Amino acid sequence: MGVPKRKQSKQRLRTRKAANAWHASELGKCGQCGSRIPSHVACPSCGYYKGRQVLTVAGA
Ligand SMILES: [Zn+2]
Repeated sequence: MGVPKRKQSKQRLRTRKAANAWHASELGKCGQCGSRIPSHVACPSCGYYKGRQVLTVAGA
């Protein structure tokens, strides 16, 4: 079995672990109403996707 030649530093370990840290998803902006929505998702508030009405939203 391969055995590591040197001990990995704490910083290196932490840097590796930091890559798996949880991040809040980046939210884009709706081109129609400007609300914050995830990308590749139809806007829940105005029902638009790619500048086109794709959903019927009650009260909008
Ligand atoms: Zn919208």
